[in-house]
Amino acid sequence: MSGHCIFCKIIGREIPANIVYEDDLVLAFNDIHPAAPVHVLIIPKEHVETVEDVPAGDHIVAFLAERAVAIAKQLNLREGFRLVINNGDNGGQTVFHLHMHLLGGRFMTWPPG
Ligand code: AMP
Ligand code: ZN
Repeated sequence: MSGHCIFCKIIGREIPANIVYEDDLVLAFNDIHPAAPVHVLIIPKEHVETVEDVPAGDHIVAFLAERAVAIAKQLNLREGFRLVINNGDNGGQTVFHLHMHLLGGRFMTWPPG
């Protein structure tokens, strides 16, 4: 738990979010500024700033992906979806608590902007 981290505050129910999934390790909630009809953020409950800070041998990123795929199934994203982790300033990361974006419900163009 990091005191001034907005995602830690969502985990601690200090600020509201539209939560779609929760277990011991992860929380998933709707992005407040959706970039697609489905835009869910999947985050570890443990505060880790970036994907680079995940220790070698730690399986949290695989677990985030596993949960994202399960949520995509529940939301019937049969025609595909996109999983994204932005890392650092040039990666477009704005919230420094590791999170995976699940985007779907429309065709996702490539390359991103
Ligand atoms: P990133 O740019 O990869 O760091 O993504 C951060 C995401 O968090 C952005 O898509 C924001 O819209 C989203 N976000 C920021 N604050 C909140 C919040 N309070 N509740 C839900 N999503 C948020
Ligand atoms: Zn945090």
